[in-house]
Amino acid sequence: MLNLIIIIFKKMFFVVFGMVETSIAVLEGDGIGPEIMNEALKSLDAVEKRFGHRFHRTTMPFGGSAYISEGNSYPDRTREFCMSVNSVLKGPLGFSLEEMAKVPPDMILERTALLPNRKDMGVYACYRPGILPKEFAFFSPLKESVIGEGIDILMIREMLGGNYFGDKIDGEENGMQFAVDVGRYDREQVERIARVAFNEARERGCQLTNVNKPNVMATGRFWNAIVDEIAGGYTDVKLTHVIVDNMAAQLVMRPTSYNGVVLLENMQGDILTDELGGVMGSLGLTYSAILNPETGKGIYEPAHGSAPDIAGRGIANPYSMIGSMALMLEHGFGLNKEAEAVWKGLKNVFGRGYLTSDLAGNSPTPIPPEKIVTSSRFGDMVRDSILAT
Ligand code: NAD
Repeated sequence: MLNLIIIIFKKMFFVVFGMVETSIAVLEGDGIGPEIMNEALKSLDAVEKRFGHRFHRTTMPFGGSAYISEGNSYPDRTREFCMSVNSVLKGPLGFSLEEMAKVPPDMILERTALLPNRKDMGVYACYRPGILPKEFAFFSPLKESVIGEGIDILMIREMLGGNYFGDKIDGEENGMQFAVDVGRYDREQVERIARVAFNEARERGCQLTNVNKPNVMATGRFWNAIVDEIAGGYTDVKLTHVIVDNMAAQLVMRPTSYNGVVLLENMQGDILTDELGGVMGSLGLTYSAILNPETGKGIYEPAHGSAPDIAGRGIANPYSMIGSMALMLEHGFGLNKEAEAVWKGLKNVFGRGYLTSDLAGNSPTPIPPEKIVTSSRFGDMVRDSILAT
């Protein structure tokens, strides 16, 4: 009885003071995943401390480490727990090439864990922002004049369709081996992602660039025709279509022309969002939210992989994971000022001239060694900045 009274009192306290008390699933991932997750959780601790919220975190087995320890990369208890919460904070998963060689093809982690988890959560709209302000133009391998006044692109990638989700067939016909990936899009899938992109462009008062391959792909023609139909309800949004191969070139030559929202199908979006990371200077700057705007559910994860080449060295850039956590605060719980405090903390580290080693190499002037920080130091500085502001 006393316990019940305490629980009710606590709930009332949180409601009255506008505080959030909630549970989230934490999937650490592989390679650098646990290292950068650790840094993101430091910032989440700081948000709890400063704003009084409470995020109960449950770390669940997932990915390569779960496959090694229990022979299943996506155990039922992980599936059930993820489906019971609003938000999943996820690190990158993935084996190194040597580990991958030892795994049977039907146990590839993307097929057994990553994509099923997205499907279970019903999340289809992936937000991958690429923001590089003018003052940090030197992060980019491109000339400062190309970065101009800065990059501010929100790539919105469809996440539950296309040839990543279609049937996969390995076969043999008349003595000839073949492989097929079925790339299918349904009308509803295209309509809903197009609406997400138009709504974002309207809200931001910016242009919308739709990218696809209608000159070759049936799905590309289908996609563009539906985007044009939806555009009829958004005459205030300037819409441009660009063919994906041209977009790959334009992103390098004049990225700022695409400031605004860019709409992409699944596979093309996978590739071009990484290209945008490269344009900004490091995949370590790529964070994302994969959302279902109707249910409010989301998976928040870096856009990059498990980086086995640098795992365990303490040099991974945790910006991607901390940024994903900030997107969780904003999209998962409507905690905008809390998210803003995290972004300020991240900017503050760069603003004071500290960089992780992936970014330091792009500077035109040598960065003093004491300004090149480990993942852990970077995470500490962001945490301290959140607590100090
Ligand atoms: P990757 O994204 O892991 O690494 C590519 C390059 O970027 C590497 O040089 C790496 O060191 C660097 N990099 C990535 N993140 C960084 C960070 N935070 N800080 C500094 N440098 C960083 O791509 P990969 O090597 O092709 O893939 C490795 C594994 O990740 C594979 O098993 C792949 O299947 C998997 N993967 C998983 C996801 C996911 O979980 N969503 C996404 C992509 C790849």
